[in-house]
Amino acid sequence: MIFLSDFLRADVIDIDQRRVGSVRDLLVRIEEPYPVVMALALRASSKLPDVIDWGAVRMGESNELALDVHTSNLEEYPAAKQMVWLARDILDKQIVDTDGRRVVRVNDLQLQAADHKLLLVGVDIGARGVLRRLGVERLGRRLTRITGRDFPQRLISWDAVDPVESDETSVKLRISHRKLAKMHPADIAEIVEQLGGRDRDAIFQSLDDEVAADTLEETSDEVQAQILARLDDERAADILEAMAPDEAANILGDLSEERRETIMAAMEEEEADDVEELLGYEEDTAGGLMTTEFVAIPATLNAGQTIDRLRELEPDAESIYYVYIVDNDEHLLGVLSLRDLIVAKPSTPITGIMNERVVTVMLDAEPEDVAAVMAKYNFLAVPVVDADDRMQGIVTIDDAMDTVMPAAVRRRARAL
Ligand code: ATP
Ligand code: MG
Repeated sequence: MIFLSDFLRADVIDIDQRRVGSVRDLLVRIEEPYPVVMALALRASSKLPDVIDWGAVRMGESNELALDVHTSNLEEYPAAKQMVWLARDILDKQIVDTDGRRVVRVNDLQLQAADHKLLLVGVDIGARGVLRRLGVERLGRRLTRITGRDFPQRLISWDAVDPVESDETSVKLRISHRKLAKMHPADIAEIVEQLGGRDRDAIFQSLDDEVAADTLEETSDEVQAQILARLDDERAADILEAMAPDEAANILGDLSEERRETIMAAMEEEEADDVEELLGYEEDTAGGLMTTEFVAIPATLNAGQTIDRLRELEPDAESIYYVYIVDNDEHLLGVLSLRDLIVAKPSTPITGIMNERVVTVMLDAEPEDVAAVMAKYNFLAVPVVDADDRMQGIVTIDDAMDTVMPAAVRRRARAL
């Protein structure tokens, strides 16, 4: 196996076998699946270029590199700026191991010669990489024999990692963030929580609004606040619009009044109104827990028409599992589940299949009571009504559970 650390500081010799300098860095072009070494950065006398084409170099028996071209014919490699410098940009940096779903530090990089190219194929995140870097790997092996402890070499394949560095490099590596975006938002959230501010920014920049919204919903209040603090108003507004209004209200409720107002001014009017309404409720009441996105239909439809309506409404509703039937004044006439709907003949009037005895909670009900109702009846959501019995929203099971479950259990559940 070839490692970057084997090259760093290795001698570079010319055609006449004379030492002309040493290796400073290897430059790669990011490609899928593996980045390709394109150039070599030299530490040499001023007569030689700083960076030369990898094609001018031959790998020798030992670790030294031999120039294939006469030194006077060497030219400065033109595209050094666009390349990723392995030692400078990746070594010692944090990356995301998308298989293990965690943040790790790059202790060494594994290279592989293939098809006349040198490819970056793996990342060493184990202690062995550190020893190799210090040039004491052999000592490490001896220590292993003496102490019986292993200094493991822990390699992960390059296609399983996602660099998170936020500077210029990340732009070049952006392509790789696709791997991250494909993970479950709860997993992205966990990774985001392990990172510092700059790296979080880099990740959020690479996510689209929907995924960013889902990820933000899964992070702790503290981290949410930190992330929001670093987003500009427009982007924050876009992400909050993609969220369920109750979640958006929760997050906005924790911000300073000034910031809240500037963000809400940047939001679409309809979304901002929903949030505004929810912000008016006490946080630890059913009103504070509920979302205003639910499915309500008039009693005149049949089962088939109701399914059609669901298809239209789906993108905006947080939960479509229950369909509520309301009159013109938002009074609840009945409820039915998706299952009830699907097993019914399309021509059946919904008044014939709906459940007329609807269990509700009041706007000012306490979270524990809401959770108790849901646990008793095994509902996935429960409607919230005002003093005149008009439907205002629903509390979904996840939000009800969140308030009654101790934080430790929630973290456990997430870890699973
Ligand atoms: P499954 O249990 O297979 O998921 P289901 O149709 O039995 O499907 P449940 O969530 O168990 O769905 O709901 C049971 C019944 O409770 C449904 O018929 C539904 O219409 C009714 N229901 C839902 N919400 C309320 C409510 N707030 N008040 C009264 N009944 C409700
Ligand atoms: Mg059931």
